Amino acid sequence: MSSACNPGLYNEIGYIPNQEQFIVLQRTFSIIKPDAVRNGHTGAILAEIENAGFRIVSIKKQSISVKQAEGFYAVHTARPFFNDLCAFMASGPLFPMVLEKENAIADLRKLMGATNPANAEEGTIRKKFAGSIQENAIHGSDGEETAAFEIGYWFAGYELV
Ligand code: ATP
Ligand code: MG
Repeated sequence: MSSACNPGLYNEIGYIPNQEQFIVLQRTFSIIKPDAVRNGHTGAILAEIENAGFRIVSIKKQSISVKQAEGFYAVHTARPFFNDLCAFMASGPLFPMVLEKENAIADLRKLMGATNPANAEEGTIRKKFAGSIQENAIHGSDGEETAAFEIGYWFAGYELV
């Protein structure tokens, strides 16, 4: 493992005896967004995630304020949809979670599909459950730095066991 790896994202290493090789388990951050919760898709989305081989390290049901949504999506402050996006994220309960598997960050993005469900591949979560480019069912970290920031924004260390 290179020293550039964030230890908080790679804190477990699994050994597969039959294959005589080590795998590195990576963590990522995800949210089942308020539209999916409202539409009763939480269980189906969790099933997709577990069937794809992710371990749910931690999950909770939460309602957030507009201010808390603004802090989470701070990188998008200048985008024209920023205010609408933050109002949407504060519009009802959501499920933030930390997920773990080999290549978790990239594999979750693949499982989610494109931001706009109209462009998402068949079989992806957004293709199945998202209603629009804004109300698109699920969030997933887009890189190691983002994952480390997002996990720390939503979860305390003692919740990640
Ligand atoms: P996420 O960060 O939620 O996983 P993403 O990485 O696919 O999604 P981003 O470009 O980071 O997409 O945008 C963050 C979120 O902002 C999107 O998931 C969506 O909810 C909303 N969004 C993005 N583009 C638009 C748009 N053109 N109009 C309205 N909302 C948008
Ligand atoms: Mg994003």
